[in-house]
Amino acid sequence: MVRNPDIEAAKHAVLKDAFGFAGFRDGQEPVVDAVLNGHNVLAVMPTGAGKSLCYQLPALVKGGVAIVVSPLIALMDDQVAALRLAGQAAEAIHSGKSREDNVEIWRRVARGDVRLLYMSPERLMTPRMLAALEKLSPSLVAVDEAHCISQWGHSFRAEYLSLGALRESFPGTPIIALTATADRSTRDDIVGKLFGGQAEVFVSGFDRPNIQLTVAEKRRAGADIEAFVKARPGQSGIVYRISRKKVEDTAAALSAVGVRALAYHAGMSAEDRSANQEAFLAETGIVIVATVAFGMGIDKSDVRYVVHGDIPGSLEAYYQEIGRAGRDGAPAEAFMLYGLEDVRTRRRFIDEQDCEPDRRRVDANRLDSMIGYCEATSCRRVALLAYFGESGKPCGNCDVCLDPPDLVDGADAARLVVDAIRLTGERYGAAYIVSLLVGDASEAVLSRGHDSLPLFAAGATRKKQEWRSIVRQLVAAGFLRTEPGAFGTVGLTERAESLLDGGETFMIRLEKPRKSSRERRNAV
Ligand code: ADP
Ligand code: ZN
Repeated sequence: MVRNPDIEAAKHAVLKDAFGFAGFRDGQEPVVDAVLNGHNVLAVMPTGAGKSLCYQLPALVKGGVAIVVSPLIALMDDQVAALRLAGQAAEAIHSGKSREDNVEIWRRVARGDVRLLYMSPERLMTPRMLAALEKLSPSLVAVDEAHCISQWGHSFRAEYLSLGALRESFPGTPIIALTATADRSTRDDIVGKLFGGQAEVFVSGFDRPNIQLTVAEKRRAGADIEAFVKARPGQSGIVYRISRKKVEDTAAALSAVGVRALAYHAGMSAEDRSANQEAFLAETGIVIVATVAFGMGIDKSDVRYVVHGDIPGSLEAYYQEIGRAGRDGAPAEAFMLYGLEDVRTRRRFIDEQDCEPDRRRVDANRLDSMIGYCEATSCRRVALLAYFGESGKPCGNCDVCLDPPDLVDGADAARLVVDAIRLTGERYGAAYIVSLLVGDASEAVLSRGHDSLPLFAAGATRKKQEWRSIVRQLVAAGFLRTEPGAFGTVGLTERAESLLDGGETFMIRLEKPRKSSRERRNAV
């Protein structure tokens, strides 16, 4: 990066004088430098990491007027108010103001008296506005909440699509897009739509080192959750469940064993919901059991753990949800249970949603990443950060780092599973396949004559639990797929062939025996 000494000096002066900050936060300076060097940039940082500074500071250093695109009037007004408090000439032109006010603001902009001008995409992307602004040669254009341009996200705004024309409207003016949400597909989508595929992408700030990450095999979700919660008396925690019914059941079960557990889901009356939320926020030691409906805008600093009784649909959702733990920086835990039934349920959700095939494909990929995370055989934090495009070192604060799994060559075992699925016509679920391998002469097996298959009982040296784990690992590695159908069929993918050919190796993680209660108290 070429650094001009005058610009360097101006940068630090503005940081101190205009913002009153002693230094940059992690990740801010490279973004600021790229913008000051005239590059197009996508900056991805979680909420609270300090994205605003990344465009506000270059705007003030460069002088002239910077245009900031923002989707909501409330967001614009907040930003303008904060900048004005700091003595900066910021304005917003939007439909919430009178015509006279907007005209007056525009006059000030035209006179060169405004450094940061906030606007909605609809206002900005009219031929008249673009022509008028072109004459002023804006110093930069910032697109806040840039994920709104992506149809794969959940906040898509059609008006944001028109922003794709920005780079032609202001050739030579750097554009900086900012967002807190960005898995790979959303990120690529933003860069494609806004920058025609060419931009420098910076990702930073996603690491939350004080949150210990653990994923455990789901056996009996109710009992597993109860054990975890009871081992942490007096702590505030959140337990996420996939359905309203499971929320109700889990909250009742926890209450029955003396835990102060309160339910929260969209099927409850607004009063009950907000009463439970208020109690959780106001007191310490309450466990809220909730669906994904809970959490937006929740700011409670002393949440000590977030439990997932069922897997979320994406790592992005997972990250958001566990991020509600440990905001005070003190040690906190994210504990997730994971089983093949969850994968099936999630696949069904995806298949049943009413949407374009493309969307379904993206969601299926997101789920695959989620499963891959659950089956990770190296540091989970590294895997999670990599998903957001940020690199990291093994953390020493996840179950894999703390208790590394034993990896062995599992190609033979994998071939047995694949054979069993193939020879029975890809018509059965994991439990059935496992029962064949261990030689369970159940009525179902006998009635189909499957006990005479050569592989019947061929895997009797391993326990059922190990086989279940191997099936999950094969799903995660892309050799098998779970069908969404009601019976939870497991089928083969094209890659499974290469396993049979002996062309692929397959390392498997051996399931460890359940920990003793003392170890559990320490680890679970
Ligand atoms: P984001 O938009 O990423 O959610 P903000 O830009 O609103 O985050 O910044 C979050 C908070 O961090 C704000 O209160 C802001 O003043 C503060 N902040 C930003 N950069 C710095 C810095 N370099 N030093 C100290 N505080 C900062
Ligand atoms: Zn780790």
